Amino acid sequence: MKKHEMICIVCPMSCHLEVDLDDAGQVLNVTGNSCNRGDVYARKELTNPTRMLTSTVKISGALYDRLPVITSSDIPKGKMFEVMKALAHVEVVAPVAMNEVIIKNVCGLDVDIIASRSMERVH
Ligand code: SF4
Repeated sequence: MKKHEMICIVCPMSCHLEVDLDDAGQVLNVTGNSCNRGDVYARKELTNPTRMLTSTVKISGALYDRLPVITSSDIPKGKMFEVMKALAHVEVVAPVAMNEVIIKNVCGLDVDIIASRSMERVH
């Protein structure tokens, strides 16, 4: 049996988790969590870690030249670079509304890239 230590990042409590794994790497037990979300986080982090991705894309006609965007849900950590590469080629034109879909089904992940703020057209 192996032990794995990690910090839960689900909320600001930052609980110190200890995870028992069998020899095949399967999670046997999670301790140190103050709520069940820590247990779920630890199991997911050790089998299929995912994260929300925040970034920016080019925008023209707005006050700023970059539009903040975010994934509509978390994506596998291993796909972050691929999604960032897809964002590098995107340019939108103002106006853009908050939560507007900028890329549908990015990289075939069944997740959208959405605008995380509105930007008016100014020129
Ligand atoms: S285990 Fe629960 S209380 Fe602790 S950091 Fe995770 S979500 Fe927050």
